[in-house]
Amino acid sequence: MNVPERLDIPREVLNIAHKLEAAGFETWCVGGAIRDTLLGVLNHDFDLTTAAHPEDVQRLFRRTVPIGVDHGTVAVLDSANRPHEITTFRKDVQTDGRHARVEFGVSLTDDLARRDFTINAIAYHPLRHEWRDLFHGAQDLDRKLIRAVGDPNWRFQEDYLRILRALRFAARFEFRIHGPTREAAHANVQGLSQLSAERVREEWFKGITTARRVSKLVALWREVGAARIWLPEIRATGGGERGVIDRLPRDPVLITAFLASDPASLLTRLKCATRDVERGRAIRDWRDRYPDQKRLVDVRRWLAETGPVADDLLTLLGASDPHNNLPRVVAAVRVARDPLSLKELAVRGEDLIAAGVRPGPDVGEALHRLLEEVLEDPGRNTRDYLLTRV
Ligand code: ATP
Ligand code: MG
Repeated sequence: MNVPERLDIPREVLNIAHKLEAAGFETWCVGGAIRDTLLGVLNHDFDLTTAAHPEDVQRLFRRTVPIGVDHGTVAVLDSANRPHEITTFRKDVQTDGRHARVEFGVSLTDDLARRDFTINAIAYHPLRHEWRDLFHGAQDLDRKLIRAVGDPNWRFQEDYLRILRALRFAARFEFRIHGPTREAAHANVQGLSQLSAERVREEWFKGITTARRVSKLVALWREVGAARIWLPEIRATGGGERGVIDRLPRDPVLITAFLASDPASLLTRLKCATRDVERGRAIRDWRDRYPDQKRLVDVRRWLAETGPVADDLLTLLGASDPHNNLPRVVAAVRVARDPLSLKELAVRGEDLIAAGVRPGPDVGEALHRLLEEVLEDPGRNTRDYLLTRV
């Protein structure tokens, strides 16, 4: 790839780089925004890497946020309060596959060498318009290749999360993973079990939201063996299902639940919020039990019983059977505002008690019986009618 002579760097980023350079600290743009811009993808999130130490950055700029000072990262807030990440040139001196101890006071070359993939290790000097592409990342962008910087085995053993990052970038850009990098990912995949569930979840979810086709991401997690370790509940997907996956909205919890034989168990392993685990559980409980759209009573009863998960179920149905009419039938029921829950009944518990029902469990039972009648025929939802029924 012929890199352009100049990149269009946002004014605020230039100002920050200018100030650091004027104070004597070499400063370069690097990482995702350089990569994306070379690919022609819009990304204004230019990260800076600099010889300045975090204290220097905090001293030079009035408004900073200490995002990860131990690792050298400080965000500088611009006039519009947007954060810009500035990271000190660093190298990892000690790693255990999960954490790194880092050392500052190193060169740009060292800093680029500790980055994960060649396409993420291209640096551009925003003032001098120089390029530093020691690992031929621009060429790999051209060849559509994800390739580790340096020895892929070491690099994955330093930080196993890089295996998942490789899969994410491959699915996002539809790049191939370079042979030795792919083999090393495969060979070191067991190391993924050391990672925290939170980091794995974040990678998996980010992968789902950014992949060009989610089915490709799933295939990569499978092939490399990452799915076996972290997502063992994922079901075998045939050709037809791959199309369904790719039609689903990019909702990570919904997609994960769709893919899993037991969504609650998978979402629990990924330490998702209870709300998400329950959502996954409800999806599994209901996903094979759609009502007959010709029977409005069944549709209303189904809506009443599924409650908040009905929309997920309709989304799944729409992706697997786009011509199914149930979503339109449901829309009509909703427009008609047919009562579907106890709180929409024309009577309340106290009305029943006033009418002679014994306070206690009898009240709930009576309300449920009334709702059942109203689901059968919404026209019955009047106070007079319902009171005659208790
Ligand atoms: P995204 O578009 O997902 O933000 P990105 O390339 O900007 O992509 P970040 O996670 O924001 O990814 O990281 C910024 C840069 O830091 C990367 O481009 C890469 O150079 C480096 N980096 C991030 N994580 C790692 C890692 N685990 N190991 C090595 N280098 C990393
Ligand atoms: Mg980024």
